[in-house]
Amino acid sequence: MNNCLPHNNQPLDTETLPSVLARIHEEVVTEYGKGKVADYIPALQQVDPKQFGMALRTVDGEEFYVGQAETNFSIQSVSKLFALMLALEIVGDDVWRRVGREPSGMRFNSLLLLESEGGIPRNPFINAGAIVISDIIATHSSIPSKRIEDFIASLSGNKNNRVDSKVAAGEKATGFLNTAIANLLKAMGNLHGDVDHTLECYFKQCAITMNCIDLVRATECLANRGNSTFQTGEHKPVADKRINSLMLMCGLYDAVGNFAYNVGLPAKSGVSGGIVAVAPGQYTVSVWSPELDHYGNSVLGQLALEKLTIYTKTSIF
Ligand code: GLN
Repeated sequence: MNNCLPHNNQPLDTETLPSVLARIHEEVVTEYGKGKVADYIPALQQVDPKQFGMALRTVDGEEFYVGQAETNFSIQSVSKLFALMLALEIVGDDVWRRVGREPSGMRFNSLLLLESEGGIPRNPFINAGAIVISDIIATHSSIPSKRIEDFIASLSGNKNNRVDSKVAAGEKATGFLNTAIANLLKAMGNLHGDVDHTLECYFKQCAITMNCIDLVRATECLANRGNSTFQTGEHKPVADKRINSLMLMCGLYDAVGNFAYNVGLPAKSGVSGGIVAVAPGQYTVSVWSPELDHYGNSVLGQLALEKLTIYTKTSIF
């Protein structure tokens, strides 16, 4: 699409949103067949590829959605966002002693930089960084996966946001690259717990099930100065400025530059085809469509978000 349009960063006109979302839905479904579902995780291979859902929640609590926004999927790498929030809540800035804050420019599960950079992953959103984050959570929790589940459920207000153990077991059985990453981290002194225990926590967090509506609720704090309508219990405020900037720089792996250019919102994607994005001070939006491009990001999802920020002129730039 031609994105060279002026006047972004406009207030969102909620009256037109239902028709904008309907138009996006109608336009993106013509793109089915241009990507492929992730096939290296057994459960993802079996998902019907021709599905699309989109949800948007304003900071005032108005919600809009189209398509399969209520269909559950395993959130995969979108979980890295919540795991980072939780790790920051647990150890604060000590996270940054063990993980960087730079884009990697490499595939999300690459091992290449890890060895040459002394076992410090470039950022918490590539697999190596996320496995270190899992290690932080696992070494500070009695039942790590339950702690992440409870944290996510407290943000989304949906107690059904739980681990799909079949998805987690399937990934464990085929997760040779992640196992290699965890072993390399261990050998280089940046994994403090047991390798298998850490990986179990990582695979389980990736297998947490949510839908598009859960995602826009759970990320509300990132658009709303750290505050969340649904969050219950004792929690530190979410570091929205920090997390949004990391998403903008690192949220879509080695395709993040193109995404920032085309969409202009901080976002986090996952190989199940979900993407959640934040317009700070305005709204959160999520899309889900399982067909992926070469980088592991949803084809229809990226296009839908690009159309949204063009039609509503709400990119942050
Ligand atoms: N569980 C997946 C993996 O580790 C998550 C990757 C992703 O969503 N990009 O490979």
